[in-house]
Amino acid sequence: MNLNELSLRNFRNYQELSLTFDPGVNLIVGNNAQGKTNLLEAISYLGSGKSFRAQKSSEMVRFGADFADCEGTVFSQEREQRLRWVIFGSSRPRQVWRNGAKKKTAADISGVLQTVLFCPEDLMVLKSGAAARRRLGDHALCQLRPNYEAALAEYGRILDQKSRILKDRFENPAIAEILPEYDLRLCQVGALLISYRARFYEGLGKAAAVYHGHFSGGAEDFHLEYKTVSTVKDPFAPIAVLQDDLMAHLESHRRAELETAQCLTGPHKDDFEVSLSGINLKAYGSQGQTRTAAISLKLAQRQLMGRESGEIPVLLLDDVLSELDPGRQDFVLNQISEGQVFITCCEPGQFTKLGKNIEIRAGQVVED
Ligand code: ATP
Ligand code: MG
Repeated sequence: MNLNELSLRNFRNYQELSLTFDPGVNLIVGNNAQGKTNLLEAISYLGSGKSFRAQKSSEMVRFGADFADCEGTVFSQEREQRLRWVIFGSSRPRQVWRNGAKKKTAADISGVLQTVLFCPEDLMVLKSGAAARRRLGDHALCQLRPNYEAALAEYGRILDQKSRILKDRFENPAIAEILPEYDLRLCQVGALLISYRARFYEGLGKAAAVYHGHFSGGAEDFHLEYKTVSTVKDPFAPIAVLQDDLMAHLESHRRAELETAQCLTGPHKDDFEVSLSGINLKAYGSQGQTRTAAISLKLAQRQLMGRESGEIPVLLLDDVLSELDPGRQDFVLNQISEGQVFITCCEPGQFTKLGKNIEIRAGQVVED
């Protein structure tokens, strides 16, 4: 799939914009605060009805305007399709069209334009805490597997309820009697999560290793390992086995859970680890290696999504170039040849040989 054309009216700092894009790489260059990220936001919103930065959709309406209009032509599902959103500055509900027909919700346009975003915060995900990596993995897996999303939500609900019981039991000891019921449900749903994750991380790791190999000129051997509850010896084991493994771990931590009033065991603590040529990245990786490995993971996620739907999602890379050495920059600019890519950067000297170079200044395209 690719975005051929985008028209914006009163979207963020764009009063009026009409742009056509290359089906390959589109490099968007401009100084700080000129509207580069706003443009990526518009593209991502066009396909999903979700913003990766706005709390409320009215934030995207240009200051002083009543409404914003975001419209684009996409080539997807073997034909040209038109998407359009109108967002109001007031509390009036937003409106969406697909091929000229007004639709009710974002779900009615899903699959037409899928995007995968890589933003500066993602660059250090492999160095940061486990929660950030879980979010990244869960986000990707939820996009791929709706059943996983449902299981994850259910697991979260049971976990919240169990936490509350653990806390309330100091005032009301009798309430602890219902804990075994919650533990059983947690192990059942938890086993399902582990089973999904094992398969997902295996595919993700393999795909990322190929990208990382290209990125590093074959110098670094990327390996990803999924980490879950220690009693789980084989995360690919049948669900019933996983469930028993989880229960065994829970039982050995029951006293500690009661004493601390916290849910100490389960896949809500899962993580994954990346090593490069056998060396643990979190502990020893350089900044550049860490960033490159994170981009490889994003490219891998996009490839898995593409394999699933038959259409490779549009990749949005916000501000990642300045952090990489020239060889790795060249890979991002000139060697991601699959599908459509949008890259923003601040350095005026940068350009891509694989598509179109666009300069943005104060919400306008600079014509050369
Ligand atoms: P950087 O290189 O610093 O990341 P950028 O080019 O990505 O910069 P954007 O984040 O796209 O910059 O934002 C550009 C400008 O848009 C900011 O100065 C911001 O004040 C302005 N802006 C944001 N929302 C609105 C809005 N609703 N109306 C008008 N201007 C807005
Ligand atoms: Mg920006």
